Amino acid sequence: MQDDHLWQAVLGEIELSISRGNYVTWFKNTRLLRFKDNVLTIGVPNVFVKQQLERKYNDIIMELLAKNRTTPDKIEYKIHTDLSKNSANQEEESISLNPSSSPSSVATHAQMPMSNGNSLSHSYRLGLNERYTFDNFIVGGGNELAYAACQAIAANPGTKYNPLFIYGGVGIGKTHLIQAVGNAIIANKPGTRVVYVSTEQFVQEFIDAVRYKKNTDFAGYYRNADVLIIDDMQFIAGKDKTQEEFFHTFNALHQANKQVIISSDKPPKDIPTLEERLRSRFAWGMSIDMQNPDFETRCAIVQSKAEMKGMVLPPDVVEYLANHIQTNIRELEGALNQLIAFCEMRGLEPDANIVSSLLSANKSRPKHLSARQVIERISKHFQVPMDDLLGPKRDKDIVVPRQVAMYMLRSELHLSFPKIARELGRKDHTTAIHSVEKIEQELTFDAIMRQHISEIKERLYA
Ligand code: ADP
Ligand code: MG
Repeated sequence: MQDDHLWQAVLGEIELSISRGNYVTWFKNTRLLRFKDNVLTIGVPNVFVKQQLERKYNDIIMELLAKNRTTPDKIEYKIHTDLSKNSANQEEESISLNPSSSPSSVATHAQMPMSNGNSLSHSYRLGLNERYTFDNFIVGGGNELAYAACQAIAANPGTKYNPLFIYGGVGIGKTHLIQAVGNAIIANKPGTRVVYVSTEQFVQEFIDAVRYKKNTDFAGYYRNADVLIIDDMQFIAGKDKTQEEFFHTFNALHQANKQVIISSDKPPKDIPTLEERLRSRFAWGMSIDMQNPDFETRCAIVQSKAEMKGMVLPPDVVEYLANHIQTNIRELEGALNQLIAFCEMRGLEPDANIVSSLLSANKSRPKHLSARQVIERISKHFQVPMDDLLGPKRDKDIVVPRQVAMYMLRSELHLSFPKIARELGRKDHTTAIHSVEKIEQELTFDAIMRQHISEIKERLYA
């Protein structure tokens, strides 16, 4: 068998035996470089893939080679720069196709055209963020089961697991995963009406609908969904009227075999004052306890997010981060952003010393900041008067600091979107949602934005 065919055969079998996410992460950009003196050399894109293949997949690769009548004495994994460039470009490309990633974009997600140019579908991407896909979700211990269920639903919405109820701690990827289902469904079948809403937003819209007597618009919007994805269900606790409304929405959708996906930070039985009838509805489908990603998965997440920012981190830095931030991927990403900003500013290569001193500085932070203090810090940093930040002006040099303020109220104080909007004198909380998402995206692509945030934080916690 020709060398290249041999490796393709091995890859083919691996693809069948591990999850799609793992396959893409670890195997997609590998290649057989040579087979000489009974040593098989595989080209890999970066040191991290090299380690993972050596540690975790070497045995299975050996087995599959043997199955293809090849028994090398050993396999060498060699970092091959072409492959890494290739993989980095591919990621860049798939991301820059996304119009929301352009720093100047302020369009809302519902208005954004789809990246594949399919104009039919864009108006049905209601509330979804295109950034959250299966492709950029790293699968591993902790989230495998939830991932598998979400994939099954994406392939066949409304049939098997309905409703799907995913619960687990903060920042472990629930929102990412349930939105990925929505995006995949739209990609498979453009025109499907996928509605994503946070429970906070659902509650707020319901209150507004009652107040302004627009109940029927509200009910129609949600009951006409083909797929309804509702995030952070715990926020429905104590909201009796909204629970009742949701109950009717749920029934209408379920009876019509429309898929409902729900996330929450706790299982239905632990959401206080959740009506019994809703609780029993949730038990009809499948409930999944999503766990924190395990160490290897966290490493892979760090590595892949760093690569998206154009940086390959040494393994000890990756491991340090993954070891020290164990329960919240959002925080892990925050620490990574901070590290990258710190190194970019000073022209340093990230190493274990830098990361350890940054993380220990974070630990000694006081936890009692007020929203006012955060906004004042941002006003000073950008030299924009408080009145302008809180006022109606829409000039760019005010809008961006205001968005940063919203982002930081979320990332540092974990305020709800309606509360963030109020703190900044905004009536509409969807502005807060879009601002936070916009800054999060910019942090991926824009070194200057990373520096702003990093400086503001340094001063804030100094
Ligand atoms: P949750 O909804 O559980 O609080 P999110 O879905 O908002 O968490 O995830 C927080 C951040 O971590 C997001 O930026 C998300 O993209 C990222 N993230 C979490 N898990 C993964 C994963 N397995 N692979 C890639 N990114 C992840
Ligand atoms: Mg979430």
